[in-house]
Amino acid sequence: CQKCLSLIKKTKFLNAYITVSEEIALKQAEESEKRYKKGHSLGDLDGIPIAVKDNFSTSGIETTCASNMLKGYVPPYNATVVQKLLDQGAVLMGKTNLDEFAMGSGSTDGVFGPVKNPWSYSKQYREKTKHKARGENEDSNWLITGGSSGGSAAAVATFTCFAALGSDTGGSTRNPAAHCGVVGFKPSYGLVSRHGLIPLVNSMDVPGILTRCVDDAAIVLGMLAGHDPKDSTTVQDPVKPFTLPSLTDVSKLCIGIPKEYLTPELSSEVQSLWSKAANLFESEGAKVIEVSLPHTSYSIVCYHVLCTSEVASNMARFDGLEYGHRCDIDVSTEAMYAATRREGFNDVVRGRILSGNFFLLKENYENYFIKAQKVRRLIANDFVNVFNSGVDVLLTPTTLSEAVPYQEFIKEDNRTRSAQDDIFTQAVNMAGLPAVSVPVALSNQGLPVGLQFIGRAFHDQQLLTVAKWFE
Ligand code: GLN
Repeated sequence: CQKCLSLIKKTKFLNAYITVSEEIALKQAEESEKRYKKGHSLGDLDGIPIAVKDNFSTSGIETTCASNMLKGYVPPYNATVVQKLLDQGAVLMGKTNLDEFAMGSGSTDGVFGPVKNPWSYSKQYREKTKHKARGENEDSNWLITGGSSGGSAAAVATFTCFAALGSDTGGSTRNPAAHCGVVGFKPSYGLVSRHGLIPLVNSMDVPGILTRCVDDAAIVLGMLAGHDPKDSTTVQDPVKPFTLPSLTDVSKLCIGIPKEYLTPELSSEVQSLWSKAANLFESEGAKVIEVSLPHTSYSIVCYHVLCTSEVASNMARFDGLEYGHRCDIDVSTEAMYAATRREGFNDVVRGRILSGNFFLLKENYENYFIKAQKVRRLIANDFVNVFNSGVDVLLTPTTLSEAVPYQEFIKEDNRTRSAQDDIFTQAVNMAGLPAVSVPVALSNQGLPVGLQFIGRAFHDQQLLTVAKWFE
């Protein structure tokens, strides 16, 4: 715990943590040590440092969603997933940085500033990019972590914790995991409780797990999975522990390669690592086949309509009365609401609330919201058809390229960039499937690249077993 705390201090410039819960962590570690010395029974995570994205409620610890709206908000309860980790003896190092309300794919849009990718400072990347220095200062070439769980990914990558919670609505756990060289796992929708995860899109949100290896992700999943009376969308059946076999015979597997994922925007380097991975499976005797997910091209726009519609409804609770920020205006209640929300939300959040309310207008509802729900069904059915044809897991890239420099990322309109980046991840959320990003290799620039495995709904164990064999 002390080592992790000192690493947190050393890497403070990365901006991975919004809150470092040093006192709490030291106390928890001390208690854990006492339990150990007295020979008491230990939890599965006893003494293990973990970090939690700052959109999960933590009792007594500020929970901000990286927004002015929730600055200073201290929840009175723990999210179920946080409680489950603490019940196993985990040591909470702090709350990690994100895009405001988890809207984004760069971790560049939070009120506490962007998260810097630790790989920006690796020897190899610096040497390779020396010629690109813009002459402003040494730091000008730093890279984004991806997002929106960039703080959690950077926290795991810098060894300041052993596992971190992220959230995944359209790729927010897998995307930063790929850019930071760690494992990012999005469980099946309904396998893990969302109670206490401040919602973005209730029908797609899933708590995500970031770790340094697939085995660790499976261990954490084992602790988190299962029914929660406080989340009616969680599974009813009891869940078995997720222990992964150490050797898997992949020769009986059928791996699907979705042809629509070979997009013109995909970098040639990621593409070649993707086909190398497919060849590896083939050389071990697995059946590798091209498959089709014909509605892929609708997925970004469909996600956009559904996401913003749910956002418009979810964000209504932030009215300056119950939570966090309240603007000091006493002209009228409406004026107070409006001013609070103008001051509290950034333009990305306000933009989504506007779009969502537009799609939900009486005259637009059928044409946008209902239509998008139908398209969502078609997208989900694409996956069902592929799995019903005998495919066990799909192998895809996680992101279009390795992490890009911040300056490049912000050149484009955030919404356009973020939408493109999620092409391989968003459909999975609309279908509720499990998916995991695994680091595969370093690029020519010395930066991590991740590949994604997608599994059948509730076949999380099988998915992780394949990912473990591959990693
Ligand atoms: N980039 C997507 C969005 O901004 C996904 C975000 C997420 O998964 N939290 O909506």
